[in-house]
Amino acid sequence: MTFPADLHADAPAYLNGQWTRLADCQVSVLDRGFLFGDGIYEVVPIYSRRPFGWDGHFTRLTRSLASVHLPNPHAPEAWRAVVDGLVSRLGLEDQFVYLQVTRGVARRDHAFPRPAPSPTVFAMTSPLKRPSVQDRTVGLSAICLEDLRWHRCDIKSIALLGNVLAREQAVAQGAAEALLFRQDQLTEGAASNIWVVKQGRLLYPPRSQDLLEGIRRSLLVELAESLGIEHQARTISRQEVEEADEVLLTSATKEVLPITRLDQAPVGDGHPGPLYTALRKAYDEAIDRHRRAEP
Ligand code: PLP
Repeated sequence: MTFPADLHADAPAYLNGQWTRLADCQVSVLDRGFLFGDGIYEVVPIYSRRPFGWDGHFTRLTRSLASVHLPNPHAPEAWRAVVDGLVSRLGLEDQFVYLQVTRGVARRDHAFPRPAPSPTVFAMTSPLKRPSVQDRTVGLSAICLEDLRWHRCDIKSIALLGNVLAREQAVAQGAAEALLFRQDQLTEGAASNIWVVKQGRLLYPPRSQDLLEGIRRSLLVELAESLGIEHQARTISRQEVEEADEVLLTSATKEVLPITRLDQAPVGDGHPGPLYTALRKAYDEAIDRHRRAEP
């Protein structure tokens, strides 16, 4: 089987109860993840060898599994042991762990297989490259696109073709992210949540089935509270995004970053703004506290 040249064949992996190397993992072509995208995933950032926001990630994994009627294959302690096992095997301070559960291997038929096969459980870890100085201080560029995805984007489904096509369109145009709009209302990024600053107030789209409840959504709101920044969850129009003072993005691997160019036009004055700068500092301090905390 071919293996991507830019990945380490020896990277640790976990497949259906076995510890192995990434290059040795094999899954049947009849796996419903492969045939239908019938599965759920999580991405968990690791700082100083410990998961950051683990309870939130575990709760979202449980919720996503329940939403697609997949029984959770592991108890919470067993999931944590998978994460810790990967982290200690790779042995780097900062990593990101990927967890995936699919409905397993069965004859190809759309409805759930009866009896249910055992789910396929896969996990791997990779070095976490924290955002560069350039990304933090210059910012990212993004494009605006119609959100063409399904209406259950709150489920962290592995069926990501809509997100893949949007991100690819951004990259092909030299941008880092695509901001998605459904009937002119902001939903989220192709692989991130989006925040808008208007007159010193942090705005973000309300929780709904049209966007993923990122683990950094509650964290950023908490950090805004601690800084005395006014914030509000409300629908945000495309025009409001285009006329925003600041636009920010959050995700497990990008943490919090400024978007300073949108469809090639500057956002605000084209530089990272004061709310971003304050929230970025608070996010770094939250990571530092996590690094120092007792295990
Ligand atoms: N929305 C989408 C579509 C995502 O893929 C992601 C993360 O990859 C997020 C939002 C942000 O979620 P989190 O903060 O949990 O990484």
